[in-house]
Amino acid sequence: MNIALNPLLDFSDLPQFAAIKPDHIGPAIDSLLDQCRNVVKELEEPIAQVTWENFVEPLENVTEKLSRAWGIVGHLNAVVDTPELRAAYNENQPKITEFWTALAQNLTLFTNYKALQLGPDYAGYSAARKKIIENAVRDFRLGGAELSEEDKPRFAEIQEKHAALTTRFSENILDATNDYALFVEDEAELAGLPDDAKQAARAAAEKDDKSGYKFTLHFPSYFPILQYADKRSLRETIYRANATKASELANQPAWDNTQNIVDILQLRDEEAKLLGYKNYAEVSLVSKMAQTPDQVIGFLQDLAKRARPFAEKDLAELRSFAQKELGIEKLEAWDVTYASEKLREQRYAFSEQEVKQYFPEPKVIAGLFRTIETLFSVAIKPDSAPVWHPDVKFFRIEKDGALIGQFYIDLYARQGKRGGAWMDDARGRRRLEGTNDMDGIQTPVAYLTCNFTEPAVINGKTKPALFTHDEVITLFHEFGHGLHHMLTRVDELGVSGISGVEWDAVELPSQFMENFCWEWDVLQHMTAHADTGAALPRALFDKMIAAKNFQSGLQTLRQVEFSLFDMHLHYDYQPAGKQSVQDVLNAVRAQVSVMTPPEFNRFQHSFSHIFAGGYAAGYYSYKWAEVLSADAYGAFEEAGKASGNVLSGDTGARFLREILAMGGSRPAIDSFKAFRGREPTIDALLRHSGMAA
Ligand SMILES: [Zn+2]
Repeated sequence: MNIALNPLLDFSDLPQFAAIKPDHIGPAIDSLLDQCRNVVKELEEPIAQVTWENFVEPLENVTEKLSRAWGIVGHLNAVVDTPELRAAYNENQPKITEFWTALAQNLTLFTNYKALQLGPDYAGYSAARKKIIENAVRDFRLGGAELSEEDKPRFAEIQEKHAALTTRFSENILDATNDYALFVEDEAELAGLPDDAKQAARAAAEKDDKSGYKFTLHFPSYFPILQYADKRSLRETIYRANATKASELANQPAWDNTQNIVDILQLRDEEAKLLGYKNYAEVSLVSKMAQTPDQVIGFLQDLAKRARPFAEKDLAELRSFAQKELGIEKLEAWDVTYASEKLREQRYAFSEQEVKQYFPEPKVIAGLFRTIETLFSVAIKPDSAPVWHPDVKFFRIEKDGALIGQFYIDLYARQGKRGGAWMDDARGRRRLEGTNDMDGIQTPVAYLTCNFTEPAVINGKTKPALFTHDEVITLFHEFGHGLHHMLTRVDELGVSGISGVEWDAVELPSQFMENFCWEWDVLQHMTAHADTGAALPRALFDKMIAAKNFQSGLQTLRQVEFSLFDMHLHYDYQPAGKQSVQDVLNAVRAQVSVMTPPEFNRFQHSFSHIFAGGYAAGYYSYKWAEVLSADAYGAFEEAGKASGNVLSGDTGARFLREILAMGGSRPAIDSFKAFRGREPTIDALLRHSGMAA
């Protein structure tokens, strides 16, 4: 194969999706890895005077190519999975990981970054360049680059053991989940369950050559029981099984995560101390917007205090409803979901099907584009590019007639496409070497991927897809990430768009965009009944709003409980001390919960976010970012009150200039304050959740 003709190595413009075949992947990645290694080798030679031009730029140029090419492969693997593509992906992935891991531990590069920071040119660099250098030095330090030769082997050992333990932690959950089966013979015992849940359970039993119905601990299988099953003992059985999963109470000693939890926390604590920090929470926060563990704990406790009266009211209502309407004298943990569902149905009866009729795809997309165009003074126009599937659409964004970004939208679920919704970058904005005008800008390109229902074909005629309100919110959410990536004005790749944005602030633009899906004026322009063309009626809208905040007090306290537990485990819990992990959880519950779960509840044994995901001492990020997005949106509500239009162009211009355009080039708190003129406050979040004082 002629490497010069390999379409994965063509970086002149947009990816050549029509031409890329699985056979191209191996040779392209090998060639790019060679190029990267050669450049790294050259940069390892002594440099008399390290500068941006002789060090960062060549490194960035060559690694960007690798990222872009591998980004295309990863994207294809996610959206048009085939056995050939998957094989090529799996074969090349270890090589990629190995390269990045080695790069992150390359001490010569670390020394060069530090030399740059101390060099004579540094003071004259742009804020963006300074931030990139600062981030690089920080990441090398957190990776153990400054440890003594004595400590390095132990640090590496900790990393390895930690990786093995976290993998083990999630494998145990998976195995325990797969192992559990509850068979129900008599259909009468399943009273209350929707037909689709029963059919799925029947099919599962059939697969095992069994009669009756099979339920497992996979969410879509057990959750309908908690939500709908009239038979209380059935709910209790499945609740207990799920709440003790992978714990010492589950009668599955091989999959008990008790010791894994302690060992994981022990390793993190040791790592933190080797790096010179007091605890792992401090390590986690180095690269986040929140400054100290105490600040995070203070934030969470304050939120708990404010949510508590609402949670108490939610619970009192639920208890009284369960007593009067359902004959449940003492509300137990396995009654909560069931009784809540019944209460919700009684109070906010409207069907998702009914709402869906008002959200046909063309109207929703036009409404989304109109919102963006009005807010940020841009124009979104259809554009053309090679795509990976005929359903994919491609658009360009222009500002004052000039191209500033492009995006692909791939809306529908299909065979071979990974579930969920996400935004990913195809390439980032950067100024190309030695140029100083608009032509010297590489404009950003984004992928927006969803898994909505495709348009139905009825009697040979295609009817537009109808979206649920949740799907519309998801679309706006992902577009918020997309706007962050595409509307950036930063010229340096490492901090343009979403690159380099702090973890606990990255959801600001996405959650911000969701708010428009709850605005009456916006919805009037975004809805048209599939048959009559009528916009969403006010009465239905009011019901949707009321349902939105159902039990928000209880839900908030639940999130706070998880977040505080996570923070304390990584902050003041001593793995070798007298206090157990369960003690920490009990203490948090005593402090914030209004309804204490049963003594046997071992939810921590399947808390993958913090023991097997990237959320250690970071679970608070969900609520933290919500404060920022709600408060930022508050500025639009204020403008709307003054002018009668929440789609305020002036406020949008400011949001664009101070937040979206700045990307990761300065700390998120500075961007927020520049936009809002003050520190963030919690008030807007409480108001949006129906918990205003
Ligand atoms: Zn998001």
